[in-house]
Amino acid sequence: MQRDRLYAILRKYWGYESFRPLQLEVIEAVCAGRDTLALMPTGAGKSLLYQLPGAAMTGVCIVVTPLIALMKDQVDRLRARGINAAALHSGLTMRQADIVLDNASWGDLKFLYVAPERVANATFRSRLRTMNVSLLAVDEAHCISQWGYDFRPAYLRIAELRELLPEVPVLALTATATPAVAEDVMRHLKMTDGCVLRSTFARPNLSFAVRRTEDKYGQLLRVLNNVAGAGVIYVRTRETAEKLAQWIGEQTGDSQLAEFYHGGLGHAERTIRQERWTSGARRLMVATNAFGMGIDKADVRFVVHYDIPDSLEAYYQEAGRAGRDGRRSYAVLLTASDDRSRAVRRFENEFPPIEKIKECYEALFNYFGIGIGDGKFASFDFNIHDFAKRARMYTGTAYNAIRILQQNGYMTLGGETDNPPRIMFAVGRDELYKIRIEREELDHIIRTLLRLYAGVFHDRLVPVDVREIASMSGYTAERVREFLKQLWQMRIIRYIPGSRSPVLFIDEERLPSDDVFISPESYRIRKQMDAERLEGIFVYAEGTGCRSVVIQRYFGEEDAADCGTCDVCLERRRMSGLAASSEASQMRDDVEHQIVAMLCEGPMTVKQIVGKFLCPPELVTAALDRLTAAGKISAGGDGKLKYMRVSSGLPDDS
Ligand code: ADP
Ligand code: MG
Repeated sequence: MQRDRLYAILRKYWGYESFRPLQLEVIEAVCAGRDTLALMPTGAGKSLLYQLPGAAMTGVCIVVTPLIALMKDQVDRLRARGINAAALHSGLTMRQADIVLDNASWGDLKFLYVAPERVANATFRSRLRTMNVSLLAVDEAHCISQWGYDFRPAYLRIAELRELLPEVPVLALTATATPAVAEDVMRHLKMTDGCVLRSTFARPNLSFAVRRTEDKYGQLLRVLNNVAGAGVIYVRTRETAEKLAQWIGEQTGDSQLAEFYHGGLGHAERTIRQERWTSGARRLMVATNAFGMGIDKADVRFVVHYDIPDSLEAYYQEAGRAGRDGRRSYAVLLTASDDRSRAVRRFENEFPPIEKIKECYEALFNYFGIGIGDGKFASFDFNIHDFAKRARMYTGTAYNAIRILQQNGYMTLGGETDNPPRIMFAVGRDELYKIRIEREELDHIIRTLLRLYAGVFHDRLVPVDVREIASMSGYTAERVREFLKQLWQMRIIRYIPGSRSPVLFIDEERLPSDDVFISPESYRIRKQMDAERLEGIFVYAEGTGCRSVVIQRYFGEEDAADCGTCDVCLERRRMSGLAASSEASQMRDDVEHQIVAMLCEGPMTVKQIVGKFLCPPELVTAALDRLTAAGKISAGGDGKLKYMRVSSGLPDDS
């Protein structure tokens, strides 16, 4: 594709005059049909890398991206630019999804955003065949690597898309990948002769600093007082987020200054809070890492980490949200002397011994009253605190044991989000027709479900819209919920009511304890990778080298130069400045002393004096000038300098 044409599209749809570094290279590679992995820091402008080619090529560009909120946002932006885009995610009903798919196949849709979970969906796959796909873009591609810090199992399914679309080029995007993770991404996405384009991870307008302190509150206040503008304060726990936001309000006497954000808040509440902060109605956001991807606020002046994160990847991502507008900004990590020991303890808890995991497995099934051989596809609203208490386990241990059981395919702990109700038929289609449903209402509901949600026989839960079922069947939403519950009690459907609490799905029937298999190999590797990752952040925090260089090396840039603006560089400069000035004054004194000593022996010409010194002549002449000005030496009629004895009789005033 001609460069002129790319520039024309850039101006027409985006109104930008030029490309940012590396954008053009990636776009040209993509347009030439090459599989490409683009590694560029947050804010570098990765969306354009697939959006511009997608707009330029014929057909529809499929974009896999992990967060629904992010998807909607991108779709809105594209539409605002006059580009037809849509999103396919689990929040849509079957019918809404159908419309989107139709549009992708037969309409003029240019961008189809899909959640990774969707990729595995049979309907989606079969519909894919009727689409003219121009490009497959995988955003946040590091999520595909089990060794990445943010692994998402659903991402592994993307590889299957590659098989369905062998001719379609793939563009993988990430802001964070160590060389090992980058390699893993390419392997999973089968980018056999793919090219890797990597821009530097240096952020010249971002000053990194680590503050070791036993008074984090005090340090935090100093940052808040010294740096104007919007900021984010990252903390580890929800509780700290709430407390710290309140504390800031009390300290500053301004309750409108800060607000908190974490995953325990409902979706709507989170949106409101994010909006208040983005618009500037609140200056500070105190947040857990739930506040992250998708923040598009350019003028964030600082990001403070109140607690040390688990990896340098996470740190760089979060800190990198400051200064996207290119203006001077600050990334401050607060650490305390016990951070390391606490992190190590936490880390050990994250990997309970395999025996303990099996214990948790047993306890869980007992807790739910499920016997051996039962429980497949069951699901429960799950209060982990209650479970842990009854099982006499630390909540953290229980959580981590479940996490590992999940990695081994036994169960899935859903997040605490707004879950739409989900159903699937627990009996086959033929069986269903054989079952005589005595109550006509239930029969009616079943028929409505079949009509509305053709996919409910598939081996997965599908989200349903109770209002839609209600209007289709003529019952109230309340009644529909009751009926669904009854069908569930009759074991005809598997039904998870809409909720905001976490749901635990049991993926496999209960096994006898001895048969529960936790792969020791993957357990070991995972533990080792996590340990290395944790070490990465401590290398950064405890290091004595330029912070930016540490980060760049970590991401595989060997030839990084000192940034000159991080705390280490500034301290070095200060020290060398001090050293230089004290060294210089010492030297000046020495030269003066020696001149006086020489002249005490007898008068000398300037040339003779300068000839006695090895240092640059201007230092000597400057010393002579000073001595003359102080009246300590003067020139005689013969042009020679002589020492003027002062009243003390001493040759100098030391
Ligand atoms: P990333 O995904 O790499 O974090 P985004 O794609 O969200 O970054 O882009 C960050 C910001 O940069 C957006 O506001 C985007 O509009 C802007 N941007 C991207 N490319 C350009 C460009 N060539 N000229 C001007 N602004 C750009
Ligand atoms: Mg992005």
